[in-house]
Amino acid sequence: MSRKLFIPILGQGDPNRPKDIHLVGRYALGIDWTDGHGSIYPFEFLRRACACGACATLDAPAATATWPSELKKLDAGLRVVWTDAHESLLPWADLRATCRCASCTGAH
Ligand SMILES: [Zn+2]
Ligand SMILES: [Zn+2]
Repeated sequence: MSRKLFIPILGQGDPNRPKDIHLVGRYALGIDWTDGHGSIYPFEFLRRACACGACATLDAPAATATWPSELKKLDAGLRVVWTDAHESLLPWADLRATCRCASCTGAH
């Protein structure tokens, strides 16, 4: 009798891992995923996706609130330090799930 074991090996085949992040134009961040998919997130969208809860309710965010002063790829996700000194950690899977490109949003 053989038992089937499922041991996930993360980090290489996981499509929710970023291969590359880069600036797109002046107001957006692009993420290339390991499966070749590409996503673009406007800075304001990233600020509103912040998990703290308060950022999502910002009515008319100040320019400093939607301008990253530092972007860092962490294992847990994308860390953004904003110009107003607020910090957001955006999990990669959440970012991938909110991709708004035509092929991710058009199907449904
Ligand atoms: Zn926040
Ligand atoms: Zn997409």
